[in-house]
Amino acid sequence: MNSRRDFLQKLGISALALHLAPLSGWTASKNNVEAPYEGRVLRVAIMGLGSYGTRVAEAMQSCVKAKLVGVISGTPSKIKDWQSKYGIPAKNCYNYENFDSIKNNPDIDAVYVITPNALHHGMVLRVAKAGKHVICEKPMAINAKEGQEMVDACKKANVKLLVGYRMHFEPKTLEVIRMRNSGEFGKILFFQGQCGFKIGDPTQWRLNKQLAGGGSMMDIGIYAINGSRYMTGEDPVWVTAQETKTDPEKFKEGVDETIQFQFGFPSGATASCLSTYNMNNLDRFFLDGEKGFAEMWPSTGYGPIQGRTHKGELTQPVTTHQTVQMEEMAAIVFDNKQPVVPVNGEEAVKDLKIIEAIYQAAKTGSKVVISL
Ligand code: NAD
Repeated sequence: MNSRRDFLQKLGISALALHLAPLSGWTASKNNVEAPYEGRVLRVAIMGLGSYGTRVAEAMQSCVKAKLVGVISGTPSKIKDWQSKYGIPAKNCYNYENFDSIKNNPDIDAVYVITPNALHHGMVLRVAKAGKHVICEKPMAINAKEGQEMVDACKKANVKLLVGYRMHFEPKTLEVIRMRNSGEFGKILFFQGQCGFKIGDPTQWRLNKQLAGGGSMMDIGIYAINGSRYMTGEDPVWVTAQETKTDPEKFKEGVDETIQFQFGFPSGATASCLSTYNMNNLDRFFLDGEKGFAEMWPSTGYGPIQGRTHKGELTQPVTTHQTVQMEEMAAIVFDNKQPVVPVNGEEAVKDLKIIEAIYQAAKTGSKVVISL
């Protein structure tokens, strides 16, 4: 049993409330006391027990509506470690050969796929066939065709397909979206998204086209793509792009090191973005409108997210993104809750189509029309 969860439930304080609290100065005031959660709990098995899987598992320890109950891994020693750390019963442990039999396990509702990008497609098709809801990490696939097949398979199996777009639940991000929707920035004119970091070990899967599907764009540039959409509230209709590569040894054919790209939106607004695996300190969004602006820096890292608008600092609570994401996803699965910004497979296919258009624009040097 999860003693922290039990403790919180006894106290009547939801862990989500704790995770929505500012990091400092929070005390359990009367307003933070909630009735214990009595709804259905989303019982999740994590597939791929690597660095992000571990982060999600830790964050889930504070969830009330979602619970880590199973694992799928090719490494028996990791399964053992996770079993003892999270109290996972042997009957909920699988490897990549036998996990199709999860269909006969009534104690697991969903599988969260957190493997290297190129493996998402095959794994999601198998999970859907087993009749379990799917949560899949970004990028959902390595091209739009595979992405669409995943959407179709989940629809056919009548299971939900949700993608780990954790920023869609982040309070400061949602406040900027609220301000935009209520017209506080006026007509949106311009978005700038700069996303990147200097990547280390040249032998890692992120630098292997076969497993990653590309380079920085698949991994980190996707935040600028998706961000340009949720910050402006529009989908791009054209793209131009320029690629630079300073280290062709490390960033081989098909693995992009740095790409700058520009979008045009139906309203006439434009965006200018940067995706890179070769520069640090790039985690910044800027949105400009006729009546005001929003700046977020950091904008998509694990946090704390910081930002300001023409009206002042953004003061919404600091959250553990993955905790809130999993709480919200439980409500999406069981209550059909509609998030402010979608996290479904169709949303992810749009990003994959845009990535393909960016690659084409960078390759040809011409403006590419995007139709989503
Ligand atoms: P990682 O290398 O730390 O973990 C990957 C896991 O997959 C490992 O446990 C590895 O053993 C397993 N695996 C299974 N088959 C494999 C194979 N053939 N080759 C290599 N590993 C294999 O990677 P990660 O950082 O955890 O990333 C996993 C996924 O999560 C990626 O799709 C990535 O884009 C995504 N991710 C998302 C976020 C986010 O903030 N949403 C952050 C980090 C990673």
